[in-house]
Amino acid sequence: MSQNLVLVLNCGSSSLKAAAIDYKTGDVHFNAVAERLNLSDAFMTFKYNDEKTVVDLSAKPHHVGAIETMMEKLHELGLDQNIKSVGHRVVHGGEFYKESVLIDEDVVDKVEQCITLAPLHNPANLVGISAAQQVFFNVPHVAVFDTAFHQSMPEKAYIYGIPYELYEKHGLRRYGMHGTSYRYVAAQAAKMLNRPEKGLAMVIAHLGNGASISAVLDGKCCDTSMGLTPLEGLLMGTRSGDVDPSVYSFLHEQEGWSLEEITELLNKKSGLLGVSGVSNDYRTVEAEALSGNRRAQLALDIFAYRLAKYVAAMTVATGRLDALVFTGGIGENSKDMRAKMIGYLGFLGLQIDDQLNAEARFGKFGIITKSQYPLALVIPTNEELMIAQDAARLAGLS
Ligand code: AMP
Repeated sequence: MSQNLVLVLNCGSSSLKAAAIDYKTGDVHFNAVAERLNLSDAFMTFKYNDEKTVVDLSAKPHHVGAIETMMEKLHELGLDQNIKSVGHRVVHGGEFYKESVLIDEDVVDKVEQCITLAPLHNPANLVGISAAQQVFFNVPHVAVFDTAFHQSMPEKAYIYGIPYELYEKHGLRRYGMHGTSYRYVAAQAAKMLNRPEKGLAMVIAHLGNGASISAVLDGKCCDTSMGLTPLEGLLMGTRSGDVDPSVYSFLHEQEGWSLEEITELLNKKSGLLGVSGVSNDYRTVEAEALSGNRRAQLALDIFAYRLAKYVAAMTVATGRLDALVFTGGIGENSKDMRAKMIGYLGFLGLQIDDQLNAEARFGKFGIITKSQYPLALVIPTNEELMIAQDAARLAGLS
């Protein structure tokens, strides 16, 4: 049994995901997911050695209850003593954090200060940190921020074209998300190409239910599509991505909708779901389009077209392109989306290899283009492993 375990925690307001990962091999030894927290029917699912157990949490349906229950399970399995550090996914570190940190009171205070920037996520992350510190009180805790990787962007990439005082007063600027995924994928891409990250110009597209794209030069982010919030940029599962901000006043005047209703519309009812009218799930929309649904096809067309437009824009930030990298559920799995998208980018020198592209769909990840450079790659992301490695390093384990 591995002695090198790190517990990776990802807390939402009503859910909690945890994994005990060997930070040396990346093997996942234990998984836990708590759902419906703070409701009377909260429950938790454990996975260990292909065995799945569901536990009722109704007696203590909160984050502390879930983490205590998980600790009891780890103890029962003889794994609790092997957990050497806890790594917390924290959504927003504002301008405070350019990298992961050991959590102390000052870090908690700064994550609290960032609540205005991530009002849904940071409070839940703080609840998770406090609950885990109570239960796993004798190991170091580490915060790994989604925003940290993007802190290397130059001002011209993150300042919006609105009065500068608003940035100074409120920190209103582009922050970007999915940073842990980008950091992992950028390093993996360099390894796969047998080159150091220094000197590599990459555009990385993280395409999941939430989707964003980043320009990465010398292993550092120089621009990204998500902004103050995850709403900006690409078309996503339920998010609109870029729209004219006047949509707010237009819909308010024409439909009488409130700010909250329009924000909900843009975040939860738009994107693939809003355009197709079918689903936020890319696979489902693909199947509908194949069966002749015009709006489903239009949603896929917008997805690929806007993505290609953004790739071209991101090459302005890198100055050239060595590699275009796809990751995330859609990026890793949809060969048709990749082919369609690369079809727009022949002028950059990218040419899809149909066989390699088809094989990547079945887990043979790697290069999917014909050309030498620039090339396109498919690389599965692994944010949990990145968090585990940071937590181990900052705890002095590796
Ligand atoms: P993620 O948020 O990274 O888990 O990605 C979720 C998205 O990946 C959903 O829109 C899924 O429909 C999409 N996805 C997963 N598998 C496939 C597949 N085989 N083909 C197309 N899309 C997929």
